[in-house]
Order: sequence, then C-alpha cells, then structure tokens
Amino acid sequence: MLSTRMNNLHPYVPGEQPKDRVYIKLNANENPYPPCREVIERASSFIRENPKALSLYPDPDSLSLHKAIADMLNQTGGVLCRAQIDGKNVSPAEEDKIPFQVTPDMIYTGNGSDEVLSFVFYAFFSSNEKLTLPEFTYSFYPVYAGFYDIPMETIPMKEDWSIDTEKLLAKAKENNSGIIFANPNAPSGLGLSRNEVRQMLLKANPEKIFVVDEAYCDFGGESSIPLLKEFKNLVIVRTFSKSLCGAGQRLGFIVASPELVNAVTTVKNSLNHFPLDALSQVTGEEACKNACYYADCAKKVCKERDSFISFLKEKGWFVNPSQTNFVLAKSPKMPGKEVYEFIKKHGILVRHFASKGIEDYVRITIGTEEEMKALKDVINLM
Ligand SMILES: *Cc1c(COP(=O)(O)O)cnc(C)c1O
Repeated sequence: MLSTRMNNLHPYVPGEQPKDRVYIKLNANENPYPPCREVIERASSFIRENPKALSLYPDPDSLSLHKAIADMLNQTGGVLCRAQIDGKNVSPAEEDKIPFQVTPDMIYTGNGSDEVLSFVFYAFFSSNEKLTLPEFTYSFYPVYAGFYDIPMETIPMKEDWSIDTEKLLAKAKENNSGIIFANPNAPSGLGLSRNEVRQMLLKANPEKIFVVDEAYCDFGGESSIPLLKEFKNLVIVRTFSKSLCGAGQRLGFIVASPELVNAVTTVKNSLNHFPLDALSQVTGEEACKNACYYADCAKKVCKERDSFISFLKEKGWFVNPSQTNFVLAKSPKMPGKEVYEFIKKHGILVRHFASKGIEDYVRITIGTEEEMKALKDVINLM
C-alpha cells in the first residue's frame, strides 16, 4: 500500500518529551526562560481584540514579522549574547556590526527552521549531486536528503571535533555540489569564525548554494550575515526555538538575497500558501521588538554554561569548548549511555546519541541556575 518513496524516509528522532513524570529537561536545547511579558500580553490581547484574526487567513507575506526580524538583526548583529543593552535599546558589539542594512525582502519565515530547511533542500539541492556535509552536524539534514532523494557524502570531523573545512570544500568541488553545516555546530558546540567561513566561500563554487545554519549563533558564534552582500550563494538559516525562547511557537527563518528568498517562497507557495499562523506572526514580531530581554537571557545562559564547563572539568570530565546553549561532554567514569540513565533516574533528561564515534558522550542543554545546581548535585553522586 505504501509508495516506493516511503523507503527513503528515516524520520528524525528528537530528544524525548516524556509525559509520565516531570523531568528537568536538558535534552532538546530549548531555552529555559519563558518568552518576555510583552509577547504574552500581545498574544492574549491579539486574540481578545481581534477574534476574527483566527477565522480569517493570516498575512501570507508576514510583512510586519519580516520587518521586525530585519530590525532585530540590525540592532543585535545577530549575536544576542554580545549585544549591548541600554534599557530597552540594544546595539551590536563592535565585532558583530553588519556593514549594511538587513531589509525585510532578505527574510523568509516558516514553521520552525526544520520546515525552512526542508524547503531550502528542495529549492537548492538536486538528486544528481552528492550534497557534501560534515559527519557530525544537525542530524535532520540526512533525513531531508532521504526525503528528497538527494545523495550525500559526509566528511569526518577533525580530531578536536571541528569541521574539516579543507576536506569539505575539496569534496564539494569533486561532487560539484552545495554545502550545509551548522555554525556553531551541533552536537560539537564548536564554531567557525566569520573569517573561516569567508575563506571557505571564496574557494567554494559560487554557482552552488552554501547553507550555514545559525540556530545557536546568539550564544557566542560569529554570524555570517555580514558576508551576504559579498556572496550571492550564501543562505543563512536561523530559529526562534533556542535563543528567542520560542520552540513552541515553531518559527524559523532564512536570511539571504531577495532572489534566494523568492526561490524558497516559490517552494512554500507550491505546498501551502499559508504556513505561518496569525498568532505566531504577532508573537514573533513582538519577541523581535524586545531583543533586550532575549539578549539578557542569552547572557545568563552563557554565564551558566561557562561555570558548568569549569565544574565538569574539575570533576575530570572531557568537555568541548561551546559557543552554544549546550555542552558535549564525556565522563571519566561511565560510558555515555550509563551517564544518561544515571542522570535520568534522578529526574533530569540529557541527550545521548548511540551513533558510533559519539556514543561515549552526552549532550547537555544549559538550563537556569537552579536547574544546573540540581544537575551538579546529581553529577556529584556519580
Ligand atoms: C534546533 C535546531 C534546528 C531546528 O529548529 P526549529 O526551528 O525548532 O525547527 C535547526 N538546526 C539546528 C542546528 C538546530 O539545533
């Protein structure tokens, strides 16, 4: 009864979302903080004051949202944890300043960056070219490759878990293909500098799309947004799920040239003309207008992360440096699976990956100070 296409589907397995008991969730890189008060108020007043907004179709172009996203990127430079906060105003750190204005026609939004990524795969990667990507990066990419019947070639990580940029480029050249990776990368937590990405772009085929997934950039990466004017093949994917406390909202976006934004919009309009619901549009817009709050959350997460890394190191763990809201770490005492089970028994969920090469590690999302204190207490029992 099933189509032959179904054989290519190997669905993504997300971090577990158990309903049987209340765990402290440090397994899906969600933000431990709620959205800001303004977002909550806007959501309730939006429904109360315009009930018809839910019975009529929403703005298909999401214009106000795209304008708010562009403004936020200009104000923060795309790295919240380094943005300077002055009351309600934010400004980018010197090194993050974008040397041009990001405009609304450079933004495309969709239902979480997972959906956005799927449309990016459809628009830019073909079944007659082997898409080239690092061996360990966001594990949803191979899922889309299967879905759209795009062959892949993966490049092993360097010894220190960083992306082997030379090999990645050489293989992409050989395969005459596009490139995709996350920066900072998951689950390694490591980032490439903007200059490293620029050097890659200078050597890559300018006719092939180069996708940088910046889901974690706000926690200390270097954004490639300033490179957009120089490289017309660059597509940057971002999400509200991590740094904008909005995983439940399902809001992701790309930043790219208007031409590439139009291509992705064509894919969307061929599938579902109205994928972003009215409520997500206004709550997303309101979040962007309150970048000061989210910058403060990102700073708290980074501070907690750095202190947690020091704690683990004192306990003899191996920990990767991290520019994200999680750490990839290896216990000196137990294999990854046992660490995961031990911590779960004590009411906290972390993520363990069974794949070869990473099975000794666990990936731990950074929570609030209280949550990290609880986790440290459990680790002290090991
Ligand atoms: C979490 C994550 C996403 C998915 O984000 P959503 O917007 O929630 O779909 C995409 N890419 C990377 C690298 C991620 O870690």
